[in-house]
Amino acid sequence: MTFERSRAPLAPLTTIGLGGPADRLIRAESEEELIETVREADRDREKVFVIAGGSNVVIADEGVHATAIHVASHGIKTAREPDERVSLTVQAGEQWNAVVAASVADRLSGLECLAGIPGTTGATPIQNVGAYGQEVASTITALRVYDRESGETVTLAPADCGFGYRTSRFKGGDRYVVLAVTFTLTPSELSEPVAYPQLAEALGIEVGQRAPLSDVRIAVHALRRAKGMVIDPTDPDSVSVGSFFTNPVLTGSDFEQLQQRAAERVGPDDQLPTYPAPEGRVKTSAAWLIERSGFSRGYGDGDVGISDRHTLALINRGEGTTAELVALAREIADGVERDFGVKLVPEPVFVGHSW
Ligand SMILES: Cc1cc2nc3c(=O)[nH]c(=O)nc-3n(C[C@H](O)[C@H](O)[C@H](O)COP(=O)(O)OP(=O)(O)OC[C@H]3O[C@@H](n4cnc5c(N)ncnc54)[C@H](O)[C@@H]3O)c2cc1C
Repeated sequence: MTFERSRAPLAPLTTIGLGGPADRLIRAESEEELIETVREADRDREKVFVIAGGSNVVIADEGVHATAIHVASHGIKTAREPDERVSLTVQAGEQWNAVVAASVADRLSGLECLAGIPGTTGATPIQNVGAYGQEVASTITALRVYDRESGETVTLAPADCGFGYRTSRFKGGDRYVVLAVTFTLTPSELSEPVAYPQLAEALGIEVGQRAPLSDVRIAVHALRRAKGMVIDPTDPDSVSVGSFFTNPVLTGSDFEQLQQRAAERVGPDDQLPTYPAPEGRVKTSAAWLIERSGFSRGYGDGDVGISDRHTLALINRGEGTTAELVALAREIADGVERDFGVKLVPEPVFVGHSW
């Protein structure tokens, strides 16, 4: 362990630059240090908060009465499977974007659409990270975790992880610490079939066609950059936690009601977007609902606001507070509920307070 500090400010460890201190901050630089630090804190009956890239957390201004353990473990092991596919077992603290770049450089397909997502590899299973038609649940084949209840290190299969749209059994819980994630990828010069219309258009192909892996990675980066969705210190629109709200997933009948309400409110020509979802449900667009409830890009003239380039990204303009951010998010969620009867669900994890 190279670093330990009391009353440590957490805001600098987050992409949105918000949140008060933790009682103690310890940086764990290997899998063994991570296990040992958590074990010790548990033995001393301290509360534990695992923080990694800080790109999906909204930490209270008052901070958190806990030992914050900063995941900084590194290493990637590669193995060839009997079916010729290739498994990468990646330590939790590895930067996700670098893992995607390395997989593309090694001509392995399966992660290419997830380029540019900030944060660490160990956090990707927590909300089943996804973008542009791909999600990590499709390529994760094993998860090594430390189980704080049993004090054991165990390997979980994907079926044990409860993966869903931007969720898993781990999100919001604190029983498991992810130590390493195994992804099994397919050797190929080409991407998986591209499922996302905007990406297919950018690549000049039809949805369902494949494109060279590195073209896909570069196109995804460019699309994300245009929306302020890659971290860039010179881009004020990237001072966020990414999308603040998930897209609503509704039952068939709830969706019909919403469609009716939307047609009355905005007229039949402005169609509510729909995307297929599992179990006969329908996914719709949180951004569409937010915009039609009167909140446009750039909304908010204070220290927090909506990004100028992405309706779902709430940004800290420099001097904001978590209280202001949450007040803005509430205003937006209340507006959508008032106008469309849909309760928006926040995507990031709240720490030291709740939604
Ligand atoms: C500009 C921007 C764009 C984004 N775009 C996307 C996107 O396209 N798709 C998407 O899905 N997400 C996106 N995100 C959200 C975020 O990047 C991901 O959720 C990412 O996986 C979070 O990683 P992190 O290391 O920053 O986790 P943190 O924010 O540090 O932690 C998030 C949660 O995971 C827990 N956690 C982290 N590591 C571990 C571990 N090793 N073991 C146990 N628990 C752990 C934490 O306790 C916390 O509850 C975006 C965020 C930003 C800022």
